[in-house]
Amino acid sequence: FYCPAPLQTGLALSLPPGAARHVQVLRMQPGDGINLFNGEGGEFEATVTRMGRSDVDVEVGTHHAVEREAPCAVHLLAGITANERMDWLVEKATELGSTSITPITAERSVLKLKGERAEKKLAHWQGVAVAAAEQCGRNRVTRIDSACTVAQWAAEHPAGAADGVRLVLSLSEGTRPLSDAVQGQTSVTLLSGPEGGLTPAEEAQALAAGFVPVTLGPRVLRAETAPLAVLAALTLR
Ligand code: SAM
Repeated sequence: FYCPAPLQTGLALSLPPGAARHVQVLRMQPGDGINLFNGEGGEFEATVTRMGRSDVDVEVGTHHAVEREAPCAVHLLAGITANERMDWLVEKATELGSTSITPITAERSVLKLKGERAEKKLAHWQGVAVAAAEQCGRNRVTRIDSACTVAQWAAEHPAGAADGVRLVLSLSEGTRPLSDAVQGQTSVTLLSGPEGGLTPAEEAQALAAGFVPVTLGPRVLRAETAPLAVLAALTLR
């Protein structure tokens, strides 16, 4: 259960609403054991001490310094796709170990995020990432960053920054195979397009920001399949 608070052995605390609801649904009882993680690495054993109507108290037990992260940090810049497809991408990318996801408001994104609606969507996707981390036993949660355009991201992260290799999934001719580009890398920033793909202008902005174009082969993969294929390849190598 995700409990984003400073945790230490012996601490008594009330679980945050999301985790408390989950424990209620599982009909746990005082004395039952659970595992807590706060996203800072490792996890704690804990014991349920009180089941309220909607709140749950626990006592934190032993810390275990278990690490379940993939060998390569992947920062995914994903062209925003329509509703459930983006949820699905966030869920699967979290399971496959992505470090962060920046939703990219691409020129061809059907869903444009602005104002209050954007805040709600980002909070929703962060919730999807928390649920996916809990489900797969990951003890760090994929961070959902604020949405931006390719140009805005490039302006905030100029070429040459020490953030590993930058790759753009591209359907253009003459791109490098993924396997060559990620050889020996431990940090990858990966840009992928929405349903309609990236525009030539967005690809040009990415190249100017130091992104290397890579191909995943001769088939046009769905917007959510393409970055997930890369995450799977990097996680399983
Ligand atoms: N129309 C489909 C859809 O609705 O999902 C296909 C979308 S494809 C144009 C979306 C993005 O996936 C592309 O912009 C590119 O970043 C990535 N992509 C898909 N297939 C790829 C391939 N074979 N090699 C490299 N990138 C690929």
